[in-house]
Amino acid sequence: MCTTMTKFELMALPYEAAALEPVISRETIEFHYGKHLAAYVNNLNNLLPGSGMEDLSLVEIVKQAQGGILNNAGQILNHELYFSQFCKPRENNVPDGELMEAMGESFGSFEMFKQEFGKQGTALFGSGWVWLSAKDDGALVITQETNAANPVQRGLRPLLTFDVWEHAYYLDYQNRRPDHLGALWQIIDWSIIESRYIL
Ligand code: MN
Repeated sequence: MCTTMTKFELMALPYEAAALEPVISRETIEFHYGKHLAAYVNNLNNLLPGSGMEDLSLVEIVKQAQGGILNNAGQILNHELYFSQFCKPRENNVPDGELMEAMGESFGSFEMFKQEFGKQGTALFGSGWVWLSAKDDGALVITQETNAANPVQRGLRPLLTFDVWEHAYYLDYQNRRPDHLGALWQIIDWSIIESRYIL
């Protein structure tokens, strides 16, 4: 008997496809979420049977797997954190409370954090992700991760990410990656990032 395994499902988007316009267009969401992320989920479900990793959580797969399983699981984890961190564009969109304090301690100020994060996202060569993560002691750190890598592989707790794969921005910004990254600050739902920081 043949059973189809669907261990992982495509996450639900917590907003309408056009909700992030004009920062991210409906068309980009439809391709990025509806085609790219959906394909990673489908690929992982096809690769898992017989791998010995069928019962692991997504994070454990990312920590332990290699090759195609790692690539697809990493991209699912990355995109779930990415797509669930956004809200409609807001003016004067800043974190507060403990997260804002930690920004000051780790980077000097929120503005200095934004500058460094944007710089590392712009400078990342090829496809990858720039991340804000927390260390065990609560200190914040920015890392560049190539392709499908995730900070959990370094023992960090991922909080915020910008996807710098071209599929994330090319329809809307073509080659202007810095413009895309600069616009993303308008749509960060800082309450989500805070909930990832303050456990
Ligand atoms: Mn992507």
